[in-house]
Amino acid sequence: MFHENPAKSAPAADSDVTAEETLDPENWDAMRQLGHEMVDDIMTYLQTVRRRPVWQPIPDRIRDELSRPLPIEPQGAQQTYQDFRDIVLPHPMGNIHPRFWGWVIGTGTPFGALAEMLAAAMNPNLGGAEHVPNLVEIQVIDWCKQMLGYDPDASGLLVSGGSMANLVGLTVARNTNAEFDVRSSGLRAAPRPMTLYGSVEMHSSIQKAVELLGLGSQALVKIPVDDRYRIELPALEAAVAEDRAAGRYPFCVVGNAGTVNTGAFDNLNRLAEFAHREKMWFHVDGAFGALAAVSKDLQYLVEGMGKADSIAFDLHKWMYMPIEVGCVLVRSEAAHRRAFSLTPEYLAHGGDRGLIAGSRWFSDYGIQLSRGFRALKVWMSLKEHGIERYGRIIRQNTRQARYLAELVDKAPELQRLAPVPLNIVCFRYIADGLDEEALNRLNQEILIQLHEKGVAAPSYTTLNGKYAIRAAIVNHRSRREDFELLVSETIRLGAALAGQQVS
Ligand SMILES: *Cc1c(COP(=O)(O)O)cnc(C)c1O
Repeated sequence: MFHENPAKSAPAADSDVTAEETLDPENWDAMRQLGHEMVDDIMTYLQTVRRRPVWQPIPDRIRDELSRPLPIEPQGAQQTYQDFRDIVLPHPMGNIHPRFWGWVIGTGTPFGALAEMLAAAMNPNLGGAEHVPNLVEIQVIDWCKQMLGYDPDASGLLVSGGSMANLVGLTVARNTNAEFDVRSSGLRAAPRPMTLYGSVEMHSSIQKAVELLGLGSQALVKIPVDDRYRIELPALEAAVAEDRAAGRYPFCVVGNAGTVNTGAFDNLNRLAEFAHREKMWFHVDGAFGALAAVSKDLQYLVEGMGKADSIAFDLHKWMYMPIEVGCVLVRSEAAHRRAFSLTPEYLAHGGDRGLIAGSRWFSDYGIQLSRGFRALKVWMSLKEHGIERYGRIIRQNTRQARYLAELVDKAPELQRLAPVPLNIVCFRYIADGLDEEALNRLNQEILIQLHEKGVAAPSYTTLNGKYAIRAAIVNHRSRREDFELLVSETIRLGAALAGQQVS
């Protein structure tokens, strides 16, 4: 049975009515004090992050701590915070560090973290209703449209990230363009199979969305790319024509604004023209690349993005906001609402009085009913810094990518494996006398040692069969010296390892 607490006597049966409990602190002053301590600790933690290793292997002691069973008795806030400090805080993923360039994972900011705390304290539900947090999300979506130069009348929704944004966008595409009522009849009512198109460099979340939408991954036709990793338009045109001739129904084209492997941009203008000429939906996956729109010098890359019927992008990648927050914009508000709105009696809303008022209930535009106040960190971050600073730091990241590419190109021991149109650099260590397979193994080992030694955290990809160390720079803390260290350590590790392999 439960452990007896000797400090407390068992409540008498007749005192039950007065023994109502709450989860609020018994001692508010102590909680306030603890809160101050937490804020102090995390500010120091973030301020000094550069001095620590990027990442370290997880010690066995920590794994043991994390296999303890469900707590039955309270241990209190103080001790719990102590546990967090001992067990969790010293072992971050690394993406807050200036030398983290793995996958495409943003850095976050101190003020963003504080905004998360404020959002949790207010704890509103942004599924709907008449309250100011809801208006904050409406304003944030308006700002997102301005940031990307998108239609001011478009609809939008904050979501967990790019994957969910792609799912929402493609759901609206499917439902709007279907030749039947998908919501009532389901896909089995399709008179012919629906197909959609994007390049082989598309992100996996597109395929996940297509599978979830019941279309089947075979419905997603992957079109080859040119030597700069951009979709081949003639191949796309041919595939669509062929599918039509075979009795299929092409309904959507997905354009990439910044591919995950190399940061490539499809020609969005020509994709938009083609899609609309063919009466297809044009969806842009701009998870990080869409934010090129925020920098005047990079805007040319996203030319044509404004013609999309829907755009998916992240704020937790290249806007450096705390994870999770992404956004989907849909040009047609009516189409967006038609895909998701479902209002039973107990959720009926409208009118202009009381808490049930509110013209926009976000639950009408997505899958979630209860929704968190992720809008607050976006709202506060944009106010804190202003959009121009974001534009400068995005541009700074692209300059750093070019600098890294130059360092790679200058080093005879290194080979760059892809063009650098944006913020992603793919390269490898090369050594005489090693075949492709040995080079792949060598570079894999270099990457793992970079991680294990806590030096830097790029990730990897495979390009034309070659293992590439891949740095994707969405980090406002990186400096040029960090890339110099990445290059010198890669060469040092490569030389040491190649020596072992050759001998
Ligand atoms: C990261 C990414 C996604 C998925 O976004 P999440 O926020 O991780 O869900 C989709 N597309 C591209 C191009 C990405 O880089």
